[in-house]
Amino acid sequence: MKAVVVNQEGTGVEIVDQNIRPIEAGEALVEVEYCGVCHTDLHVAHGDFGKVPGRVLGHEGIGIVKEVAPDVDSLKVGDRVSIAWFFEGCGRCEYCTTGRETLCRSVKNAGYSVDGGMAQECIVTADYAVKVPENLDPAQASSITCAGVTTYKAIKEAHAEPGQWVVVYGAGGLGNLAVQYAKKVFNAHVIAVDINNDKLELAKEVGADFTINGREVEDVPGLIKEHTGGGAHSAVVTAVSKVAFNQAVDSVRAGGRVVAVGLPSEMMDLSIVKTVLDGIQVIGSLVGTRKDLEEAFQFGAEGLVVPVVQLRPVEDACHVFDEMEAGTIQGRMVLDFKNL
Ligand SMILES: [Zn+2]
Ligand SMILES: [Zn+2]
Repeated sequence: MKAVVVNQEGTGVEIVDQNIRPIEAGEALVEVEYCGVCHTDLHVAHGDFGKVPGRVLGHEGIGIVKEVAPDVDSLKVGDRVSIAWFFEGCGRCEYCTTGRETLCRSVKNAGYSVDGGMAQECIVTADYAVKVPENLDPAQASSITCAGVTTYKAIKEAHAEPGQWVVVYGAGGLGNLAVQYAKKVFNAHVIAVDINNDKLELAKEVGADFTINGREVEDVPGLIKEHTGGGAHSAVVTAVSKVAFNQAVDSVRAGGRVVAVGLPSEMMDLSIVKTVLDGIQVIGSLVGTRKDLEEAFQFGAEGLVVPVVQLRPVEDACHVFDEMEAGTIQGRMVLDFKNL
């Protein structure tokens, strides 16, 4: 089968032809239809989390179950399932047993610690592969598997309520979905902040009530306070920029929550006085649980959230990674394993 893997030097990607092992107890074999390309794949390919030469990349996989081990009863042949970054938890630790399984210390991640979805076939742990609703477009589902569930969970962590103001910093692949979930699912008022007018335009099209170009406006938090009558109730930061994190803290009202999603390798400045006196909460949020993904899929199936995706042939995989590195991608690139 064709697979997109980390090259032997652990510095980039290559397309190879390889065989897949037989499935074992508790597993299912999935025939992959689509797999989105995420910034995290670029980090894995570059060895930013440790070198993993030969690893099959991809954690935005969608495919059809082709075979299940005899002991599997959670999936059947023909089911459409996802291959997500949260591939498997231990099922026993304090996080796994309290609805916080993504924090499991012995978690397995698709496309990083185990082979992922950028291949014609992929082996999943049956109980951890979340089913995709029938009326959800599978290419769009691939984007919800990572970007969608990540932003849906972040808005949950923001404790967004109907009528409240949520600021989304960064209006790219993640931010665009954050705007949609905040607006269409949580019925919040949404402000999108970015430094790219095309992305802000797209944010407006999908529901942002107000947009701010951080490069054109001198005092972004000041403008947000003015527009919201004292500051947003919460901020979700998908931007990979320290500036955005700092502005987010300054743009929420007393009691506000700042949810960190983007991963710039920098430190954020956090005023202790403001944090204490204004009761600000800063929370990190990482992908989502199986239940979160099931919910995120369902809102997609109901048409409330529509990921912007573009299909690309598998042969283009190396180019897609180059484009991602160059930052020229709008929306989400999805590798098409169905029409290989
Ligand atoms: Zn991802
Ligand atoms: Zn665990």
